[in-house]
Amino acid sequence: MNRANRLLVRGGQVYDHDGDVHKPPVADILIEDGDIVAVGRDLKVAGERQVIDAAGRLVVPGLINAHYHSHDTLCRGLFEELPLEMWLLYTLPMGQNRSPEEVRARTLVGALESLHCGITTVQDMLGLVPLDDRNTDVVIAAYRDIGIRVVFSPMVWDVPAIAMVRDQDSLPADVQEMLGASGRPVQDQLDYLELQFRRHPAGGTLHWAIAPFAPQRCTPKMLAGCADLAARHDLTVYTHVYETRGQALIAREKFAHHGGSLINYLDSAGLLGPRLNIVHSVWIARPEMDRLAAADAGIVLNHLSNMKLKSGIAPVCDLRESGVRLGLGCDNCSGSDVQSMFQAMKLFCLIAAVSEPEPGPALAHEVLRHATLGNARTAGLAGRLGAIRPGHKADLVLIDLSDVAYLPYNSAARQLVYSEAGRGVETVIVDGRVVLANRKATTIDEDALRREVADLMRHFIADYERVAAERKRALPYMLDAHRRMWECDLDMNRFVGRTRGKPAR
Ligand SMILES: [Zn+2]
Repeated sequence: MNRANRLLVRGGQVYDHDGDVHKPPVADILIEDGDIVAVGRDLKVAGERQVIDAAGRLVVPGLINAHYHSHDTLCRGLFEELPLEMWLLYTLPMGQNRSPEEVRARTLVGALESLHCGITTVQDMLGLVPLDDRNTDVVIAAYRDIGIRVVFSPMVWDVPAIAMVRDQDSLPADVQEMLGASGRPVQDQLDYLELQFRRHPAGGTLHWAIAPFAPQRCTPKMLAGCADLAARHDLTVYTHVYETRGQALIAREKFAHHGGSLINYLDSAGLLGPRLNIVHSVWIARPEMDRLAAADAGIVLNHLSNMKLKSGIAPVCDLRESGVRLGLGCDNCSGSDVQSMFQAMKLFCLIAAVSEPEPGPALAHEVLRHATLGNARTAGLAGRLGAIRPGHKADLVLIDLSDVAYLPYNSAARQLVYSEAGRGVETVIVDGRVVLANRKATTIDEDALRREVADLMRHFIADYERVAAERKRALPYMLDAHRRMWECDLDMNRFVGRTRGKPAR
């Protein structure tokens, strides 16, 4: 084994979910071929290895972002707060039919920001248009080059985006077309996925998942095809469910034959089970949470985008009480507009705290579990990611405890969640490879990427201005549909279907 494959992280305070989460003890971490092989005090190791001095550093498991889309990173900062459906008018077209140079740059930008924020794995639910080999190769090469771990799931759907707007028929035909009014063939997309799994087999820092866009954007045939692919390739599934109030109304109105529940609809297609992760769940009913918990399905929360896009606030207290497994994400770069699990974790705790007047169980170390172990579970990587233990992948973050966020230093868990803004992230290791050292990427030239993005943005902004001018006409119609949606009653208590007969809560 050569020196490059062996790494010793010496003398850091090593965070253990089951240990002292406030003052983790000092320990060494021995890494071989990308795996943690030993953790302990004053490890005696023979042979050559690279040594990282972690004195004065807190060593934490790499954070995992369980919901992200790399297709709109270049739209960061373009929008004020907007209802989701109106925001889609702009952000969807700006992610489509872009040059390979732009696809590579946008992938690197999101990955670079993630590494600087201590994120070692992103779940990229990518809206790739066109869905082809060339685009796929560009994205996978960019992730390999920068060295972040990716759970990659190009989105599939066969019902157009306009299906996300309640009362879509009230919109003029050209406005419907702006959001996208034509479908895509089911089998082509399933064949595309299967081909990519063969062209780029999972391994190292590449993992695959299946992402039907959302139940209301997929026919039963598409959902059943996704369930079949997931079972045959042993993959997990992510899909957007109940992000907005309008989507819950669409469930009641258009999925009445499934008891008005998108969870029933997913179940009927064979998707409700341990592989399933539903993303958002802002407008989920309590009996549906219980069904997900019983099925060992998970929920990935995205408070940052849910608030900025006016979708609402997920019912954190009910979700915690239901026992459903939880994960966290940062969502689109133009809908939150940041890839920071520190912000996502803090918001989770603040919303949980303010939702109940009485003091509850400690939140900081719980949310650290969601952002690591919980998010690893969403990708089917429990036992491999999310903790600093022998047998786990060596995905680690070294936090500089001399940062003012730790002055004074009273609790690792609380200060990571409530005080850390990302400034403390000094060194990042993914799969045993140092990818960020002294707060700089070791794998790519950050300054060259800055220059390249500046160059690409001239063309990108010209395109954006054209799109924005063309779509202005749609705004009054979309706003009207949005207002009607908010005026309409939504029954969140009495629930029919599989849960019929159980008392409503
Ligand atoms: Zn999303």
